[in-house]
Amino acid sequence: MIQFEHVHKTYRTATSEVAAISDLSLSINEGEFIAVRGPSGCGKSTLLSLAGGLVLPTQGRIVIDGQPVSEMTAAQRSAFRGEKIGFVFQMFHLLPYLNIMENVVVAGSEVASATAGERAETLLSDFGLRDRLTHRPGELSAGERQRVALARALLNRPRLLLADEPTGNLDPENASGVLELLAQFHKQGGTILLVTHHDRAAAYADRSLALDQGRLVESGVVETTT
Ligand code: ADP
Repeated sequence: MIQFEHVHKTYRTATSEVAAISDLSLSINEGEFIAVRGPSGCGKSTLLSLAGGLVLPTQGRIVIDGQPVSEMTAAQRSAFRGEKIGFVFQMFHLLPYLNIMENVVVAGSEVASATAGERAETLLSDFGLRDRLTHRPGELSAGERQRVALARALLNRPRLLLADEPTGNLDPENASGVLELLAQFHKQGGTILLVTHHDRAAAYADRSLALDQGRLVESGVVETTT
């Protein structure tokens, strides 16, 4: 689905250069659930941004669905993201003045807009929020807010979910709830790239990658302890 071939990403500012990703080669297969781990600043978020075509590599090649990202226009990359990728973040990024239905529907692509309301309601109900549709994010717990963010990410039926520390702000019980929903998406054939610090979260993955200072230092099949 996505291939990284000797990818480097260097951020350049007026006074400094930071090598966020160095010589990273990686193949993400359709239907895989991959956990990405490593200390703060090792390049995990940059890896997700590269996989989503949000930033371009400084060197090397990224091929998404057979098409090199560097040969796509910004509009093509944006369309690809809208149709095929869902994003979830640690801080939820919900819009505070919209209710949760509106927060989910707002992600609808033009094609999906006719049925977006129906799908949003189904997703939110499946995620245990049927009675909260008209509530604003501020009236919900952190776990509930992350479930809304996940419903938003899944609205357009993406094939790939990019999740940056989605359980980082949740207590263990709510974290498990969110991880179960990710596992459900994976069981239905979805591909997931999950950045996490939690062993428990990584245990849901098929494969675990470890980054250190922008380099891939470990890649292996996750041993399940059940
Ligand atoms: P992680 O997600 O593992 O914490 P990041 O991918 O956010 O790591 O960052 C990797 C490195 O790149 C860090 O040293 C960070 O400070 C730097 N970095 C990230 N984004 C930028 C940016 N837009 N400009 C300059 N440096 C950046």
